[in-house]
Amino acid sequence: MYDVNAIRADFPILSRTVNDKPLVYLDNGASAQKPQVVIDAITTAYSHEYANVHRGLHTLSNIATEKYEGVRAIIARFLGVANEDQIILNSGTTEGINMVAYSWAMPRMQAGDEIVLSVMEHHANIVPWHFLRERQGVALKWVDVDATGALETQKVIDAITPKTKLIAITQVSNVLGTKVDIKAICDAARAQGVPVLVDGSQGAVHMPVNVDELGCDFYAITGHKLYGPSGSGAIYVHKDRLAEMRPFMGGGDMIREVSKEEVTYNDPPMKFEAGTPGIVQTIGFGVALEYMMGIGMQAIAAHEDDLCAYARSRLSGLNWLNVQGSTANKAAIFSFTMEGAAHAHDISTILDKKGVAVRAGHHCAGPLMDHLGVRATCRASFGMYNTRDEVDVLIDALELAHDLFA
Ligand code: PMP
Repeated sequence: MYDVNAIRADFPILSRTVNDKPLVYLDNGASAQKPQVVIDAITTAYSHEYANVHRGLHTLSNIATEKYEGVRAIIARFLGVANEDQIILNSGTTEGINMVAYSWAMPRMQAGDEIVLSVMEHHANIVPWHFLRERQGVALKWVDVDATGALETQKVIDAITPKTKLIAITQVSNVLGTKVDIKAICDAARAQGVPVLVDGSQGAVHMPVNVDELGCDFYAITGHKLYGPSGSGAIYVHKDRLAEMRPFMGGGDMIREVSKEEVTYNDPPMKFEAGTPGIVQTIGFGVALEYMMGIGMQAIAAHEDDLCAYARSRLSGLNWLNVQGSTANKAAIFSFTMEGAAHAHDISTILDKKGVAVRAGHHCAGPLMDHLGVRATCRASFGMYNTRDEVDVLIDALELAHDLFA
């Protein structure tokens, strides 16, 4: 455990007020706030060290290139990957998963092939696979969560058939917080020769990740949820899959030579990084990951587990609140609706009056909303800087909303 107040002091935005109340930021699942070191790194990059990367031979370009390229090694360390050339830098998970769909899956899947997904995937890990269904006749096989919101590993394994070409699954649900046993799924999938793509957008935020130990083929992360800038991210790709991938986007940087007649490609990872990247965003992302590793992922997980248990016990005391998913194996993400009340949007508006920021809506998880039989929920999602006191403020604000709507 750490001194949460010292951490809070690193995030300037946390000391502001909203509607004359101290900000209680519980929308971390959508995007996390940024520590001063990240903000400073962005300012320094633009104030003193900015130029385009890779092609320049002048001083500023060399500095920018060194800083930008240095982030690959930081990400590799963060994910427990030995070879940084297996890290492809991008703008976030959405780009990472789309790259896998276009570069790896499309050329190798045909009508009748199957992709296994859980019902709690984010649209970023659904829509690219719908493209394959629509365009190539690939079948999507959905694995439901149980009544507690847990995903039984065996059900995922049972969904594998000789036609399964990929399992695409989240490590942590952005709606329920449910944790998935990725290692067990990867072990079983590997035994049957089925690659696994892991959406680590939420997972990597809340727990230590070691991709080599998990044994997955693709692991996607997004910088803005990891306390870094939006427009940054990365995907780890297993070396065998990397060799199978054709480039998705064409342009500068990803080529070796281009003539009127032909093109030859750069080696991975550059082969999959066409065009001018998010230079400063990526530099900021590296600083954010260093910041997280400096605190320690175990320490962050322990703090958040404590918050999760506290929030769970306080929320369960509100018998007019329907909290979705009761599984104990979850990250500190809570979705709820209020009995007899008010649309989730109305609840979130009342909470905002009390300075409490939560998200309301379908959370880009249409199939899960259908499974739960709700159109929208409110979601309170916690980060490394949240406190038990903030849980109490949330509870008071929910009681106010209940009094208003009941
Ligand atoms: N997957 C999950 C589980 C998410 O929570 C999100 C962001 N809400 C994404 C994918 C998409 O991430 P991004 O928009 O940063 O690409």
